[in-house]
Amino acid sequence: MPGKSTKLGTEARKVPLDVKRLVLHESGYKCSNPACRYPLTLEVHHLYYVSEGGGDSAENLLPLCPNCHTEHHHGHIPAESLRAWKMLLLALNEAFDRRAIDLLLTLAKMKDQTITNVTGDGLPAYSALVASGLVASFPALQTTGGWDGNVRWQELYKASLTDKGKLFVEGWKKGDQRAAIELPSERKRGHGRKRGQGRKRGQGRKRDGKGVITDIRSGTEKDGKGVITDIRSGTERSGKGVITDIRGEQAHERRK
Ligand SMILES: [Zn+2]
Ligand SMILES: [Zn+2]
Repeated sequence: MPGKSTKLGTEARKVPLDVKRLVLHESGYKCSNPACRYPLTLEVHHLYYVSEGGGDSAENLLPLCPNCHTEHHHGHIPAESLRAWKMLLLALNEAFDRRAIDLLLTLAKMKDQTITNVTGDGLPAYSALVASGLVASFPALQTTGGWDGNVRWQELYKASLTDKGKLFVEGWKKGDQRAAIELPSERKRGHGRKRGQGRKRGQGRKRDGKGVITDIRSGTEKDGKGVITDIRSGTERSGKGVITDIRGEQAHERRK
C-alpha cells in the first residue's frame, strides 16, 4: 500500500472515556477483527487517521487488539477492511444479540460448520440466525444409552451454517462489505442473491437513478455528492472524512 506509514504514534492521544466505552461496547469488548476477537488490552483505532483530520467520535473508532492494530498499521490489513468491520459490526448489533453473533462465528469454526446435539432449550439462541437464513437447524433424534438398560430417544437438533451464512462469515472475515448484501436488516433491495456472490472487489455497483444509496442500518441516505448522514448523530458530513457505506461505496475523496 503506497503511503502507508506507522500512525500509531499520532493515534495515542486521549479518546474521551465515554466514547471509548461506547465503541468497546459496540465491539462486545473484543477485537473487531472477526477472525480474532481477542478480548484483552484493546486499542482504539481511528478509521480516518488523526493526521488526516479524523476525529475522536465513535463512528471513526474501532477497537482492535494490539496484534491486529499493528498488522493494519504495517499495511497487512487494509483500511477498507477495517471500515467494513465497523459497518458490519453496527449492522450485526442491530440484527442479532451478542450470543447469536458468537454462535455464528463458532459455527464457522466447527467441523462441517455444524454444531450437533443442540437441545430444544438451546435452540432459541439460534432463532434470529435461522430466521435470517444464515443458519439452518434440523431435528436429529438420538438414542441415549440407558444406564438402566432402556434405550431412550432424545430430541436434539443440529445447527449448520447455510451457504449464505458461509458467504457472509467469509466476507466478514475478509472485510468484504459486499458480503453483507443479504443481511436481514437490509430491506427493499430487489436484487437476486446471485448478485451478492462472486462480485469482484472494486467493481462498480449501480446505485439507483439518482445515485442515492440507502444505508443498511438506519435508512439514511447518501447522495451522489458523497454526503452521508452520520449513522450516530444524524449530522451530515461531506467531502472529507466521511464514513464508508456498508455497500462499499466510499464517499470520501481523500484516499490517494
Ligand atoms: Zn490505529
Ligand atoms: Zn485482533
